[in-house]
Amino acid sequence: MSAAWQVVVGLETHCQLATASKLFCGCANAFGAAPNTLVCAVCSGQPGALPVLNREALDLGLRAALALGCNVAPRTKFDRKHYFYCDLPKGYQISQYDQPFCTGGGIALASGKFVRLARIHLEEDAGKAIHDRGAHSLVDLNRAGVPLIEAVTEPDLSSAAEAHEYLTALKEILQFAGVSECDMEKGSLRCDVNVSVQRPGGARGTKVELKNLNSFANVAAALEHEVARQIQSLESGGEVRQETRLFDAEAGVTRTMRTKEDAHDYRYFPDPDLPLFTLDEAHVARVRSYLPELPAARRARYVKALGLSAYDAGVLTASRATSDYFEAALRHNDAPKELANWLTNEVAALFSDAASGVRSIDELPFKPFDFAELVELARTGRVTRSGARTILRAMCAQPRAPRELMRELGLETVADSGQLERWCREALLGREKIVADVRRGEEKALGALIGPVLKLSGGKADPKAVREKLLELIRAS
Ligand SMILES: [Zn+2]
Repeated sequence: MSAAWQVVVGLETHCQLATASKLFCGCANAFGAAPNTLVCAVCSGQPGALPVLNREALDLGLRAALALGCNVAPRTKFDRKHYFYCDLPKGYQISQYDQPFCTGGGIALASGKFVRLARIHLEEDAGKAIHDRGAHSLVDLNRAGVPLIEAVTEPDLSSAAEAHEYLTALKEILQFAGVSECDMEKGSLRCDVNVSVQRPGGARGTKVELKNLNSFANVAAALEHEVARQIQSLESGGEVRQETRLFDAEAGVTRTMRTKEDAHDYRYFPDPDLPLFTLDEAHVARVRSYLPELPAARRARYVKALGLSAYDAGVLTASRATSDYFEAALRHNDAPKELANWLTNEVAALFSDAASGVRSIDELPFKPFDFAELVELARTGRVTRSGARTILRAMCAQPRAPRELMRELGLETVADSGQLERWCREALLGREKIVADVRRGEEKALGALIGPVLKLSGGKADPKAVREKLLELIRAS
């Protein structure tokens, strides 16, 4: 990217709220049902059908606003945003125009830069039009009326990397706050990007909107490409048109979709079917009291109070499910470093191995209590690390107490010191040179003796105990 140009990026992120029902009717808010089965007179836009606000959606929106440090408006209203499309049977979308329910707030990036939010508003989702069926198109209205929040940033971002970081943090916060699943594959998180380039200190460049970005990686890739395209166009004497472009992820390029409508094209006006809503302080305070600890605070606590590395704290808080699992295990085993180590290494390895049958933390068939016990068995040397790994795999197939599986699989380390001593003595025979090295203070040489003992024990000797016993025998000889 040329230093002669400044990149100016703003993001508009749509996020489906995790309510039981839709925003203005009682239809279920669910993904994956048979087409047009979650539909009523209200969300299919029948004349005369009246919308009623789902208070749970408003509360989840409030939760998002509070988690992001926004100012909640004392009063808010809904407006009709008019446009024609086959997935919008009413001919307008119920959204919020000049009185969104909150303004301000934002997200701090690692660099210290604060990305300001202009506003967050509530609106209903449209249905889904499917155009890839040859001669005809299909419409599914199950999604019509699903509650969304749209978080709009100020144009504070100045690179693809910053956009990626902001989105990752936003997703974490919304997930932790219980606002949304934020699953881009299911469309519960969607993002539009506004980007322009300008000479440092010069006039603001023409803004181009990028749509159809279905992953954070695509947001970054589309931005990289679009910035390069705009710079090249300007440097070769051309201009940038105000328009909406689609990102073609396969080709890695953006293409013109349409020239941009201005806001007045939508003919916004207050929805006469919905009253003005007041958000009194007591209610906002109650919603605030339900807010869980957010990712940044959790990370800080993991580092300060639990002594974890910043890296481990980051891995554990990358999803709320992982963080909650870790905390639940911690209640049964006060060994945060070992638990973190096992969770981020051994348990994470299960997810990338099809043979385990477990693809994510949500699918773990055993409880945090059992996981905590397994880690304790390994920590105290009752089983070796590789023995514990075997038990972990067995727990995926049959979720039983690790202690039981340890005995059944014959993995308990031998604590009988007489037996341990016999194995050690046997291993020392004929290895006088190594013994001499150790005696000279080269403790590293011990490694060559531990292996043979473990082999003699059939993997049932605890390496730590073996090491101690060998040292004891060598020093006494
Ligand atoms: Zn409905």
